[in-house]
Amino acid sequence: MLTRKKMLQLLATAPFIGGLAGTQIVRNGTKLSRNNYRRNYINELGLRTFINARGTFTTLTGSLMEDEVVEAINFMSDKYVSLPDLRDRTGERIAEMLNCEASVITAGAASALTLGTAACITGDNQDMIRDLPNLDGPQREVIMQSTHRFGYDHAVRNCGIKIVEVDSASDMEAKINDNTVMALFFNAAREHLIGREEFVEICRRNNIPSFNDAAADVPPKENLFKYIEQGFDLVTFSGGKAIRGPQSAGLLYGRKDLIEAAKMNHSPNGNTIGRGMKVNKEEYVGMMVALEVYLTKDHDKEWQEWLRRVEVIRQQALAVDGVEAEEVIPDGPSNVFPGCRISWDEDRIKVSSSEVIQSLRNGHPSIEIGGGSDNVYANVSMMKSEEAGIVGRRIREELERASA
Ligand SMILES: *Cc1c(COP(=O)(O)O)cnc(C)c1O
Repeated sequence: MLTRKKMLQLLATAPFIGGLAGTQIVRNGTKLSRNNYRRNYINELGLRTFINARGTFTTLTGSLMEDEVVEAINFMSDKYVSLPDLRDRTGERIAEMLNCEASVITAGAASALTLGTAACITGDNQDMIRDLPNLDGPQREVIMQSTHRFGYDHAVRNCGIKIVEVDSASDMEAKINDNTVMALFFNAAREHLIGREEFVEICRRNNIPSFNDAAADVPPKENLFKYIEQGFDLVTFSGGKAIRGPQSAGLLYGRKDLIEAAKMNHSPNGNTIGRGMKVNKEEYVGMMVALEVYLTKDHDKEWQEWLRRVEVIRQQALAVDGVEAEEVIPDGPSNVFPGCRISWDEDRIKVSSSEVIQSLRNGHPSIEIGGGSDNVYANVSMMKSEEAGIVGRRIREELERASA
C-alpha cells in the first residue's frame, strides 16, 4: 500500500520538475502537486510543449483544465459506479445549470452531432437504433443552409442521412418532406440565409427538430442559454474549448425525448452508432465540474486579464521601429477572445510572418502563434497569465533581429 509517508518520500526523491508553487490535488487524502511530478512524459516521449498563443485548437490539445476539474477526475479515478446512473445524474445537473429540459455529456461536440441526429431519426425505436446507419426505406434527409455546410457535417452524415441544402426560407419550406428528420444550424457560419428565429419557426411549423451547433461559441457565457431560449430543440457546445473541460467531452442538451433517444444511441449501449463514442466516469464528472466553474467564474475579470495580456504583447511589439500592433476583438459568435495583431514594414524589418511564426515555434520556450500573410496574431485566451510577457519579448526579439 502506498502510504502517505511513502508517497512523500517518493516525492522527495523524485527529480524536480516545474516550479514550487504547485497546485494541490487531493487523491485518497494524499496531496499531489500539479507542478511536482515524478516523471516528465514530454521529455520521455520526445515531445515539445509550448505556450499556446493560438487558441482552442484540437490539434494543439485544445485548452487546459482548471484545478477543480483535475481534482474531480482524480476523485473518480479510483471508484466504481454505474455508468448509466452517472450519465443520468450529471445530465440532470447540467440541465438545471443550463435551464433546459435535459442534457447528456458526449465525447465532444462532433459526437453530439452524431448522437443528436441519431436521436432525431430513431426516437426510441430499438430496431432502428440497432440498424443505423443502414435503415430500411428511403434515405432520411437533414436540412442545412448551403452557406452552413462544414467539415463537421460528416458527424451528421455518419447516420446515413443525405444533406439537403436550402437557400432561403421558402426553399426550406419547399424541401421539407416525409423523409426530413432534422434541420441543422451552424451557429458560427459567416452567412445566414435564414436567421435563427425564422429557422426555428419553420421547423416548429413542420414538426422537424432543429439542432444548433454552437461548439466554439462561448464567451459570452450567455450563449449557453440563448439558443434554447430561441427555441432550438437541441444545442451542442464543445466541452474542451473555452469551457475548459476534458478535451474529448461535449454537451448535448435540449428536448427531453430527444436527449433520452440520444442516450439510447450512445455508449455504454453495445449495439449502437454511439458505442465508439465512450465517455468515461472521469470525463462525466470532470465535464460537469468544468461547466460549474465556467458558469460561476468572474468573466469580466477574465476579460480584463485578457486585455492586459494583449497590451503587454502590443507594447513589446511597438518598441520596434516600423511595427504596428493593434488589439482585435473578433465579431464572433465563435472564438470571441481578445487578440493582438502585429504587422510590420518588410522593407525595414526583413522577415516574413511565416518566418517569425517558425522562429517562435523553434525558440525556447516554444510558442505556437497564428497569423496571416502579413501579420502574426496572438490569441491570449489559452496561455497562462505570466506567459504574455514571454510572448511579447520573443516577438520583439525576432523583429529586432530582423531590423538590424
Ligand atoms: C470544434 C467544433 C466542433 C467539434 O467539437 P469537438 O468538441 O472537438 O468534437 C463541431 N462544430 C464546430 C462548429 C466546432 O467549432
